[in-house]
Amino acid sequence: LVVIDRVGKSFGPVEVLKEVSLTVAAGDVLSLIGPSGSGKTTLLRCVNYLETYERGLITIAGESVGIEQLPDGRRRRKSDRQIAALRAQVGMVFQHYNLFPHLDVLENLTVAPCRVHGEALGPVRERALALLERVGLADKRHRYPSELSGGQQQRVAIARALTMQPRLLLLDEVTSALDPELVGEVLDVITSLAADGITMMIVTHEMAFAREVSTSVAFMAEGRLIENGTPEAIFEAPHHERLRSFMQRYR
Ligand code: ATP
Repeated sequence: LVVIDRVGKSFGPVEVLKEVSLTVAAGDVLSLIGPSGSGKTTLLRCVNYLETYERGLITIAGESVGIEQLPDGRRRRKSDRQIAALRAQVGMVFQHYNLFPHLDVLENLTVAPCRVHGEALGPVRERALALLERVGLADKRHRYPSELSGGQQQRVAIARALTMQPRLLLLDEVTSALDPELVGEVLDVITSLAADGITMMIVTHEMAFAREVSTSVAFMAEGRLIENGTPEAIFEAPHHERLRSFMQRYR
């Protein structure tokens, strides 16, 4: 479903992604792990073109993300309409849940499909209620974000990303801002989505979770993909010295 082919990106003179290549098949859960500043979040943001990239190409279901590669080798940014169409297919959830504070839970879920994509409220509402049920928050549908705990807000944010029925869900350190006792309920929701076959790319510092939920794990350091493989291979038999020393700190 997702092919990341030798992607490179710089912020000014600083090269933050260096020839990163990865693939994610439909139904896969890929976890990106690695030290702070290694480029995990930046890579995730490139996948739905919240960030541009200067080298290489990302494709989703065969369609290039954000950039058109012209026959003469030049690159051209796609139109805003094309980029919006891509983003409708790629849901993203952030560390800070970014719910709309003036809308209740149900409205937070229905606003984008109805107002931005012009879908009829009836079916969207039904879909939204089913998703709230799935994240265990159907009874909170008329609450406002400020009336919910951080864990509940993050579960709403996940349900909101799914109301667009994306082909791919990107999760960026979604538990990092939560109190420790609220982390479990959010990880449980993600685990159940994985069991349902939702394709995900996850940036996480929760190693036990990455090991449990992922079909593959990719370790990044200093903008490079150092090693990737099954959770067993990465956690039990890491090859690269850099990965081994990273793992030591989590034992
Ligand atoms: P963390 O685990 O701490 O979130 P990360 O692996 O996700 O780290 P990124 O957030 O992708 O790393 O950052 C990679 C590098 O890019 C860092 O050196 C960071 O300082 C730099 N960077 C990120 N965003 C910007 C920006 N908007 N402008 C300039 N530099 C940036």
